[in-house]
Amino acid sequence: MSDLKSIDKQYVANTYNRFPVQIVSGKGSVVFDENGKRYIDMGTGIAVNSFGVADDVWQAAVTEQLSKVQHTSNLYYTEPCARLAKMLCERTGMKKVFFGNSGAEANECAIKVSRKYAAEKKGSEYFTIVTLENSFHGRTLTTLAATGQDHYHELFQPLTPGFVHTPAGDVEALYETVRTHKVAGILLECVQGEGGVIAQDAAYLRDVAELAEKEDIILMIDEVQTGNGRTGALYAYMNYGIRPDVVTTAKGIGGGLPLGCAILGEKVESVLGFGDHGSTFGGNPVCCAGAISILERIDNALLEDVKKKSDYIFSSLKDAKGIRSVSGMGLMIGIETERPAAEVVGACMDAGVLCLTAKHKVRLLPALNIPDDLLHEAIEIIKRVCAETV
Ligand code: PLP
Repeated sequence: MSDLKSIDKQYVANTYNRFPVQIVSGKGSVVFDENGKRYIDMGTGIAVNSFGVADDVWQAAVTEQLSKVQHTSNLYYTEPCARLAKMLCERTGMKKVFFGNSGAEANECAIKVSRKYAAEKKGSEYFTIVTLENSFHGRTLTTLAATGQDHYHELFQPLTPGFVHTPAGDVEALYETVRTHKVAGILLECVQGEGGVIAQDAAYLRDVAELAEKEDIILMIDEVQTGNGRTGALYAYMNYGIRPDVVTTAKGIGGGLPLGCAILGEKVESVLGFGDHGSTFGGNPVCCAGAISILERIDNALLEDVKKKSDYIFSSLKDAKGIRSVSGMGLMIGIETERPAAEVVGACMDAGVLCLTAKHKVRLLPALNIPDDLLHEAIEIIKRVCAETV
C-alpha cells in the first residue's frame, strides 16, 4: 500500500485528498481493503453503486453487453441506448434523452437546451440561468458558474457568464431576479447534496414551478445525486408533485459506470437538432445495458423499502448522543454531529464503516438494497462514534 500511495501521489493529479485505504474488492454493501479489513459501505462511491459493489444482476447485464460490442460511436444505432431512453421517458412522462458521461455534462446539456429554447422563443438576450445559493452542479466552467458556492469559483475566473444565484426558499428573491433579468432557465436540486443534504421546502418548489410555467422559463431539476431511487421516489421531484422541463441525472443510474442523462420534457424535446450537441461516449452500450438493469429494479417495492430504511436511520439517529440534527430524504442523509464531521468519518472508518462528509455534516448514501442487518450494524457504529468525546 505505501508503494501504491507514493506512486499515486507522484503521478495522479493532486485534486483528491484520499483516505489512506485501498479498496480492493467487495460484494453488495461490504468492501475489503488491501489488508482484508472489512467495511460496511455507507457511501457507495458517492451515490453511484446503487445496488452495491459487484452486484450480480448489474454485472451480468454489463458483461453480456461487453461480450457483444463495447462501443460503436453515435453514428450507429445500439439497442441498450434506445431501450434506456424509452424506459426513462416512460417512467418520467418525458419525451427524449440526451446521453453524456457525467453529471456536469448532463447539466451542460440542460443549460444549452434552456438557452436555445429561450433564444428562439424570446430572443438571444434571454440567457440568464438562475440557480440556488449553496447549490452544486459540477466542475466544468459552466457548471461551476451554476454552482452557488463562491469558494469553488475563486481561482477559475472568468466563468461562463449569465448565472445568478438566489437563496433557497426565498421565492421573492426569485421573482425579483426574473423581473430584473432576462431569464432562460432555473436549475436546482430538490435536496442539496454537496451543500449539506438539505431538502427544499415543498411550497417553495411549487412556487418556483408555477413561476417557471407562467413566465415560460425552463425548469431544470438536477437529479444527479437525488435521482434513481435515492430519495424514495424514482426522481426526487416526484416527491414534490412538480413537473420539470428537464431532468438531469448521472451517478446512480450507471450503477458504477459513467453515464449522464438530460431527460427532456415536451416543451424542449425538439430544441436540439443535428450537430447542436454530442459526446463520443454518450449512450455507450455497456453503460446503458447496466443502467437498464438498475432502472428495472427500481420499482415500488424497492422504493417502499428505501423509505423504510430511511425511517429507521432517522429514528435511530435523531435523538442520539452527540448528534445535533439529521437531514435529508430517503437514503440521502446528513448528520450534524457535535464532533467535527471529518473526525467522525475517520473514526467510523477505523471501526469498519465508510461514510462521507457534506460541508460540516456526516453524509450517508448507502446502497438502495443494503441488507437490514448491515444497516443496523453500521448505524450502531456511527452512533457509538458520535457519542464518544475525544
Ligand atoms: N450535480 C449534483 C447535484 C452533484 O451532486 C454532482 C456531483 O456530486 C454533480 C452535479 C456533478 O456530477 P459529476 O461529478 O458526475 O460531473
